[in-house]
Amino acid sequence: MLTKSSTELVRQRNSVLALAALRRHGALSHTEIADFTGLSSATISAITADLEKAGVIEKSEQQAASGRGRPRVQFRQRRDCGYLIVVIISSDGVQYSLVDYAGTLIDRFSEERSHDPDGAARFTEAVRDGLERLLSRSRIARDKVLLISISSKGLVRSDEAVLLWSPIFGNDQIDFEVALRLDWQARIVLDNETLLVAAALDAREEGGSGEGPRSLAALSLGHSIGLGIVRRSGAGEREIAAPNFGHMLHMPNGGLCRCGSRGCIEAYAGFYAILRMAFEVPDDTIPAKFVPVSELDKIAQRARQGHRMSSFAFRQAGIALGNGLSRLLSLTERMPVTITGPGTRYFDLLRPGIEEGLAQSHLVRMEGMPELRVVLDEPMLVFEGHLNRALSVIDGDIVEAGLG
Ligand SMILES: [Zn+2]
Repeated sequence: MLTKSSTELVRQRNSVLALAALRRHGALSHTEIADFTGLSSATISAITADLEKAGVIEKSEQQAASGRGRPRVQFRQRRDCGYLIVVIISSDGVQYSLVDYAGTLIDRFSEERSHDPDGAARFTEAVRDGLERLLSRSRIARDKVLLISISSKGLVRSDEAVLLWSPIFGNDQIDFEVALRLDWQARIVLDNETLLVAAALDAREEGGSGEGPRSLAALSLGHSIGLGIVRRSGAGEREIAAPNFGHMLHMPNGGLCRCGSRGCIEAYAGFYAILRMAFEVPDDTIPAKFVPVSELDKIAQRARQGHRMSSFAFRQAGIALGNGLSRLLSLTERMPVTITGPGTRYFDLLRPGIEEGLAQSHLVRMEGMPELRVVLDEPMLVFEGHLNRALSVIDGDIVEAGLG
């Protein structure tokens, strides 16, 4: 079964470690790579020589500020070793970004998504066109694109690039591998958007000088409700998942959800649900396809002025979220929850309900409230999550393909 010798596998693993250190810390000297990876100086010399010869990393010399002494030599990922395309699908559009191997953004544009009902097939065509447009604008060779990293809200099959269910296309599945394989040799990956947010928060924690890596959850509030979770075992093993939180049962036979079920968390906490509650529309009314933030802003303004039904709508939403979180934490462990997404605009109105919903559980009464934080810039987190994951996959692929 083993096709590669164990020495070769060790060498690959060490090369990946060195590349990961350069990803995390930027350009590094020989000694710094050795420090960050814990590998010997001789091993680093062999690895960097191989990676440089294969065009994966490059050396730069910096003269010391004094102008005397030997110049400082640093290694970094070589920008033109390959390219990554990031495709972010959201409720109102698709954003395409081209990024080089060193992680530098080269080009970006967004396209609006038409809200037509016979969606999935037309949408797939639009994505293929968008990718072609990005490629032709850049003038890079098609085979230099090593990976296309796609994200969406909804349920994703983790081992294949298949979108199983999404708020936009419902049960119309999209197999991006099949849709793009004819045109592209690049590896194609698809992730749930809030999973990427959680991964980015986790990477920020690792980079920061906090008390060290721990489990965390990311909760994205908007038209739909997303959850990403990173769990850490004692051995430092990491497990990232995006459970189907928004469609977890909140109330049996409750409000009608966009997924077709009744009583989901989203049917109380999604934007359409807050709208429905604030205007006292029966909760079996078919959810609005899309609610502009400006509509929610108006409800929030009325709630802040003391309008009873408007503030009740936000409180109900908060309780659904708090109850859901308490169940999640009861099944896993106590961990901080970071709240992101357009719904953070209403956190002042949601927070009392969230805390009330959490406080109803035995776990929270025993161990206290989990830490709740708000991070406003969700698009930045999504993009960071894409880069972290995609570039490390590319590093692994390059090393595994052999460095010649
Ligand atoms: Zn649902």
